[in-house]
Amino acid sequence: MPVQGLPPYDDNNIFAKILRGEIPCKKVFENDWALAFHDIAPQAPVHVLVIPKGKYCSFADFSANAPAEEIAGFARAVGQVARDLGLEAPGYRLISNMGEHSGQEVPHYHAHILAGRPLGRMLPKT
Ligand code: AMP
Repeated sequence: MPVQGLPPYDDNNIFAKILRGEIPCKKVFENDWALAFHDIAPQAPVHVLVIPKGKYCSFADFSANAPAEEIAGFARAVGQVARDLGLEAPGYRLISNMGEHSGQEVPHYHAHILAGRPLGRMLPKT
């Protein structure tokens, strides 16, 4: 079900094409619930995207409409990717952009894992 006021899922978005294997990615993890791959334009020494296999436009859509099993599977996959990459001790930042004000570019829900150096303030002072 589309989130109120937002467009429905677009099957032609770039992450849908990656999931279908139509566009390559630098895969770091895959299971029944999630696919993780390196961001094409990294903003930190480690910048990995984790996306659910299901068709969800955003966190709003995923949190409202995904079955509990899928939400749990995705959350555990994000944690596993960070663990597998050895990021727990130095730490990492988890970001998900949702909608216009966040600057979300790709309308398939995804979590950014950013790490590899001290990342500073969460948002720049305005
Ligand atoms: P967002 O602004 O939260 O929607 O983030 C979208 C992210 O997807 C950006 O960090 C882009 O660099 C990244 N991106 C776009 N196309 C690709 C691609 N083909 N492979 C990997 N990452 C991509």
